[in-house]
Amino acid sequence: METIRTECRDCGGTGLYSGMCEGRGEAVICLACQGTGCKEIRYKPYTGRKGKRGILTVRQSAGRFIGMDVGGCGEVMTYSEFQSKIPQA
Ligand SMILES: [Zn+2]
Repeated sequence: METIRTECRDCGGTGLYSGMCEGRGEAVICLACQGTGCKEIRYKPYTGRKGKRGILTVRQSAGRFIGMDVGGCGEVMTYSEFQSKIPQA
């Protein structure tokens, strides 16, 4: 894992927040960054698409919301076809 520091989006990097509840010229310490003005993001660098064992067929996804469309739809391809049709980034 690697860590980078980013500007806090909630307070624009100021460490202070002024909203509807704060009076003119008043601010509160940003809850999102505890007043530091920055946030740390932990991430794993991308080093190439990994293989997935046990997969025989691949289709497009119908959606991601249960109760609406989920599962696969459209043309069925082999895992090998997926690897050649959809190049890794
Ligand atoms: Zn903040």
